[in-house]
Amino acid sequence: MSTAHPYLPDASSSVGPPLWLLLELTYRCPLQCVFCYNPVDFASVENELTTQEWLRVLQESRALGSVQLGLSGGEPLVRDDVEEITAEAHRLGYYTNLITSGVGLSRERLTELKRAGLDHIQLSFQDSTREMNDFLSHTRTFELKRRCAEWIKSSGYQMVLNCVIHRLNIDHLETIIDMAARMGADYLELANTQYYSWAHLNREHLLPSRAQLERAEQTMRQWRERLKGKMRIFFVVPDYYEQRPKRCANGWGTTLMTVAPDGTALPCHTAKMLPGLSFPNVREHGMRDIWFDSEGFNRFRGQGWMKEPCASCEERDKDLGGCRCQAYLLAHDAGATDPVCAKSPHHHVVLAAVERAQQPRAPEAPLVFRRKESSRALAQRPLPTR
Ligand code: SF4
Ligand code: SF4
Repeated sequence: MSTAHPYLPDASSSVGPPLWLLLELTYRCPLQCVFCYNPVDFASVENELTTQEWLRVLQESRALGSVQLGLSGGEPLVRDDVEEITAEAHRLGYYTNLITSGVGLSRERLTELKRAGLDHIQLSFQDSTREMNDFLSHTRTFELKRRCAEWIKSSGYQMVLNCVIHRLNIDHLETIIDMAARMGADYLELANTQYYSWAHLNREHLLPSRAQLERAEQTMRQWRERLKGKMRIFFVVPDYYEQRPKRCANGWGTTLMTVAPDGTALPCHTAKMLPGLSFPNVREHGMRDIWFDSEGFNRFRGQGWMKEPCASCEERDKDLGGCRCQAYLLAHDAGATDPVCAKSPHHHVVLAAVERAQQPRAPEAPLVFRRKESSRALAQRPLPTR
């Protein structure tokens, strides 16, 4: 294990525990979403952790202070040990959340998961109509998702629906919210696409225009009022339309630890794309060493790594310079100011993308679905385009 990063000579004394643990149990998924957040080269990741290895990760992280657990993927339910992993997490005292497309769920499995102590389920939809849902995921899954929503509701869980919003479905917001309300959802998360991974590849197709976004916000406000006390709606604005970046993952190495299917431990689920950084594997290192002492987790902790304009910016405590992956994708420098920030010397890249999004014509390049064949081909590409 490498020694502590020079910017943080005694990282363990100033860093709190990884309160959120996200286990990406597998990158396998029957869906092929055009905005998928899995790495573009996911097909080259093999050798998933075994059940016993996941259980050890749970135990060590809990000892470190982790309390919230996300089980995601790919589609976590393609593994047949989610029940066993959930039961151990429950025994250890985690609050457990399953993030699923619904594929692989059945009434029986839901009963088993409940018995194992699962606290929370988040079910994703791609749109409110079968045609668009099935087109965007390149699968026939809409009816299955509807059935899953019924099972979740009748099992006594709070129903949390998630729909990723973008140019191709943002005009359907009215019917998406209506669908969620009819299904009896307690929470609806309308998360505008963040442009990483497959969504970054497809950005020219997916970034909404300003007019679309304004209409969507108005629709959402009206429905929020109408459904007050019945269903809560969260709406996450695409940060390309903001002047300041998000504080990504609540700050690099402050709160979140993600473990990829092959055991690579990451400060966020896309960080593996960053060049020149090594991330430790849970097969070779203990969780304590990984969290406190690894180069990967220390590289962008705190503020010592910052360049100008972040280094002397009075807002740096608020956003910590934004997202390192976005800086790499848009400025080709993981240590740069997130180009979403209007103070970034690369902000023009974001403005140009936003400007193109105001044009009504369709992009020339075709949509790329998250397929294994595309993933293998894209893994050969040296640098992402802006
Ligand atoms: S975004 Fe779609 S393709 Fe990607 S893991 Fe989720 S359901 Fe599967
Ligand atoms: S310059 Fe850096 S620290 Fe300042 S607001 Fe922009 S991203 Fe945040």
